[in-house]
Parts: sequence; structure tokens; C-alpha cells
Amino acid sequence: MAQPVFDVIVVGSGASGGWACKRLSESGLKVALVDAGRQQKDSNFREHQPAYELKYRDDAPQVIRRTRPIQKDCYACMEWNYDWFANDLDEPYTTAPDKPYSWQGRLRVTGGRTNVWGRVCLRLSDWDLKAASTQDGYGVDWPLSYKDLEPYYTLVEKYVGITGAPEGLPWLPDGHYQPPMALTCVESQVRERVLDKLGRHVMLARCANMTQAQNGRAACHYCGPCERGCVTHSYFNSYFTTVADAIRSGNCTHIANAMVYKVLMNPDTNKAEGVLYIDRITREPKTVKARAVILCAQAQESVRILLNSSTRQHPNGLGNSSGVLGHYLMDHIMGGGASAEFPGVPGKPTMGGPNRPADLYVARFRNLPGGPRSKNFLRGFGYEGGGGPAFRWSAPGYGKAYKEAFKEGVQMFDIGGFGECLARWDNYVEIDPEMKDTFGIPVLRYHMSYGDNEMAMVKDMADSAAEMMEAAGGKNIRVRSNPSTPGWAIHEVGTARMGDNPKTSVLNQFQQTHDVKNLFVMDGAGFPSTACQNPTLTIMTLCVRSCDHLMGRMKRGEI
Ligand SMILES: Cc1cc2nc3c(=O)[nH]c(=O)nc-3n(C[C@H](O)[C@H](O)[C@H](O)COP(=O)(O)OP(=O)(O)OC[C@H]3O[C@@H](n4cnc5c(N)ncnc54)[C@H](O)[C@@H]3O)c2cc1C
Ligand code: SF4
Repeated sequence: MAQPVFDVIVVGSGASGGWACKRLSESGLKVALVDAGRQQKDSNFREHQPAYELKYRDDAPQVIRRTRPIQKDCYACMEWNYDWFANDLDEPYTTAPDKPYSWQGRLRVTGGRTNVWGRVCLRLSDWDLKAASTQDGYGVDWPLSYKDLEPYYTLVEKYVGITGAPEGLPWLPDGHYQPPMALTCVESQVRERVLDKLGRHVMLARCANMTQAQNGRAACHYCGPCERGCVTHSYFNSYFTTVADAIRSGNCTHIANAMVYKVLMNPDTNKAEGVLYIDRITREPKTVKARAVILCAQAQESVRILLNSSTRQHPNGLGNSSGVLGHYLMDHIMGGGASAEFPGVPGKPTMGGPNRPADLYVARFRNLPGGPRSKNFLRGFGYEGGGGPAFRWSAPGYGKAYKEAFKEGVQMFDIGGFGECLARWDNYVEIDPEMKDTFGIPVLRYHMSYGDNEMAMVKDMADSAAEMMEAAGGKNIRVRSNPSTPGWAIHEVGTARMGDNPKTSVLNQFQQTHDVKNLFVMDGAGFPSTACQNPTLTIMTLCVRSCDHLMGRMKRGEI
């Protein structure tokens, strides 16, 4: 029997792949969703299961580290869900000497990282997209503007369901939000005093957790651990939202457990004609054919596929005539922050109270439009964190006195920074010439380190956090300043940058490779710079815009 030819292959079912499948299949195109993960199921969700029901009570990280020594570094990889993460022994990678890289958050279930993500959804502004020309001359501008993204941000936000509130900050544009979750007393105090004394904006982080029901998904009931799944579908996970819609359209075929090795090319037409994948269960090589191929496998995974797809006509990897593929890897720098106690703020801790799944956010305040410039670094950072009543584990004394002090609790507040990482040629991935994964696919070799700019930023993150604690009335302030190893923010972007010039970029503004017109990369690989905002809202937004462009070109017979 002849192999079916789909209209489009989408590789990856995470934040970007889910949207690509939904947008294209609901418009009538026949889509093959090829994903390395196994089928996710609601019955795997265990957000309500107490630790004491687990074999090791979530208290034996060494057991998880036997198969997931890297993945376990991610706070969201726990006894409840660790088998959703890639087995690091089966799927290794290498790093250059003295350049550690922690490739966390490699998920292998439908929905990818959106199963466990932190859900903070922030828009970028032209201050970010045109940073090179308007801020400081460093790097390159994006080949598109905020006005190109704005309608797509709104479309995505409405469907995703985001709790948040408008703040009127031009450099952190407001979006479409469901009613905000409430702040705690200590958070309200910090918000008011920090604005009053320092002019900085402390706000509820805009988070993909719903406060109103929509599309068959319930409002959040504040149980807390979304990274273990959500049976009421109240956070955004592409497995039960975009991917489910795509399957429901009747036009999307989901091929699970399919580890894509390479894109298959037709040398006569210079067009992609499908993908070769390894079946993770049988280990057999198989192919899928289509009129267009979209990679959404997560930035470095997609670039690995492109680098592994070299042919005689594309000897350095597909889409790499510029030589830029793999370069300009970015992840947010972390490690600067502070915590403090706030005596006198009312409220006691409780074991069974509501657990708000949304953090607090402190909007960027360095190097803003029209504002003073830092002498020490370019660009800026924001903070995530929060506070409220906590049990006082370190209370002095023993027996009854200790128990009373423990229960009386303490009002705590803590924030940690996420800073923009400058795009540098020297930060790159390539194919390791020696090592293959358990499926026989050559693995990535990382070369990444943070530079002076990021290090100076971490110091300011720490100093400024302490300054805010002081301004807000905090006591017993503890400051930390330990720059993170690259990879720890799990906000990786870059490695196939977008641009108008095919000599200096891999993708155009619609995430189409300059070299192969029916081949697209619609995850975060195309980001020319990273801003300091969390990337996923922009990843999803770009993807929908690029899908609309692809459909237009297909309709006109150009692809
Ligand atoms: C713990 C954690 C917290 C986070 N918090 C936030 C946050 O608060 N805000 C934010 O903006 N971002 C956050 N992120 C990052 C966010 O999850 C990612 O930016 C986003 O999911 C990336 O989307 P993607 O489509 O590129 O990749 P993913 O969502 O990772 O999906 C990739 C998919 O591709 C599949 N795949 C990979 N390789 C192959 C292959 N060779 N063949 C076939 N399929 C393949 C995988 O199985 C997976 O399903 C967080 C991530 C983690 C892990
Ligand atoms: S906190 Fe809300 S969104 Fe998270 S798992 Fe519980 S109900 Fe779902």
C-alpha cells in the first residue's frame, strides 16, 4: 500500500508543536504529529496524591538520579512524575571542557515541557525586539515588530487562559487576562512600599492558570503542584488543550514514541519530503512523508535534527548555508536574589490552606526607555518569587515552646532574578563526532558560558533584591549571588536565528528556513535575542503567526 502523504509534519507536541497542530488541522490540513514522547494520559496526573503514598515519599533523589542524573536537577522532576522526563543515560549529550551545561526539562510525553512548566506568560515589547537599534547597538533586531505579534499574543492568551492584571508598563505590554489571583498580605505590603519608595513594579506574575472555566476546563482549585498534572485541566498543558483539539478535528494523526533522526530531502527539488524517525519501542527506522515539515522539538532538539540532516547539497546541516545554525544559544541567567522576614504582618501558616500556583513578578527596572543606563551591564532582568506565612522550622528551643513558635510561623518573602543573556557566537551546539544516543542518533555537544555582562547582572539582582526587602520593611535579609550554570533557567532559545539576510540568519520572520522553502522551525530556536521575559508565550505566538503564513503560501501553491 502506498504511504500516505500528509500536508504537514509537525515534530514535537509541546508548547509550539501543539499550536501548529491545532492551527493547521482545524483549518483542514492533514497533519502528522510526530513526537518522541509516549502518549500522556489524565490517569498519570497525581497532583492530589500525598507523598506518604509514594514508595520513597519523594525523599530518595538518588533513586531518580540513577537514570536521570541531569533531569533530577530540575525542581519539577520528582518521584510523582520523573518517568515523564528523558532517561539521561539513553539520551546523553556532551559539553566542552570547563563549560558545564545542564540540559534539564527534556520531556518524553505528549505535551513536552508544558506538562511541568512554571506557566509565567509575559509579552515582549519593541524595547526587546528592537533592542539593538533602540537600546545599545548590541546584537541584531528581530525581523518583526510588536505590532506584528500583538493580535497573535491576544489570540493565544485568550485560548491559554492566563490569570493576571494590566499594569500599564510600555516595556511589559498588557494582554488579555482572566481575573487575577489574590496577593498575600506581605506581597501587598511589598508591592505598595517598593513602588512608593523605589518606583519598581511588583505584580502578580501573568500565569497560565485559569480563574474562570472555559472550553471544558475548570477554574483552578488551588491545590498547588501543577507540575504533577491537573485532572481539572486548569493550567495550560498542550496535551489536553491544543493537541486534543487537533486530534478532535479529525485531521491530525498522532505518532507517539517517534524519535526523529533527520529531515528527508528530495535532491532534485531541494524540498523536504518527510522525516526519518526511530520507533522508541521497536527501534525500527520509519518514515513519514508530507508537503511541508515543521520542527517544534524544542530549540536545541530541532537544531540537532537539522545538523543531523546534512546531504551532499547541504553538507553542514539543513538550513545552514550561513554557517549560523547552532550558534547564539541563550538561556536566562539566574542566581541573584534575596529573602527576608516581615514581622508584624498578620496571618498564620496552615497545612491545608489554598496554594496559589502563580508567582509574583517584579518588572524590569534597569536600562528602560528614557531612563538612566547601568554602567555595568546592558539590558535587564525581572524577578519571580512571592511570600506569605510559613512555619518557623528554625524556631529556638525544644518541646512545647518550639511547637508554639513553629506554629506561630513567620512571614517570609523571597525573589530571584531572571536576566537577559546576550546572544554570542561563542555559545553554540554542534554534533558530537563520537557519541550517539541509544537510538543511534548522534548527540549534541554544548559550548556555552555566561560572560561579564551576565555576571554583572547577577550582582545587581542580589543588591537590588536586598534594597527592595529593606524598602518594604523586611528584617533578617539574606542575599544570594551565585550565577547559575547555563541551562538551569530552562528558557533556552536561539541556535537558528531569524533575520532578513540569509547570509547571517537561518530563518526568515515566518520561521521558514532561507535554504529550503517547505522547511520551518517554529519553536524558540529562531529568537535573535532573549529579552528577560519568559519565552513560551512568544514561542506560541510566533508559531501561530508562522502557521498562518504557511497556510497562505500553500493556498497560493507556493509550497
Ligand atoms: C520546570 C520548567 C519550568 C518552566 N517554566 C516556564 C515559565 O514559567 N514560563 C515560560 O515561558 N517557560 C517556562 N519553561 C519553558 C517552557 O516549558 C518551554 O519554553 C516550552 O515548553 C518550549 O516549547 P517547545 O514547543 O519548544 O518545546 P517542548 O514544550 O519541550 O516540546 C518539545 C516536544 O518535542 C519532542 N521531541 C524532542 N525531540 C524530538 C525528536 N528528536 N523527535 C520527535 N520529537 C521530539 C518532545 O517529546 C516534546 O514533546 C519551563 C520549563 C520547565 C521544564
Ligand atoms: S493548582 Fe490549579 S492549575 Fe495547578 S494542579 Fe491544582 S487545580 Fe490544577
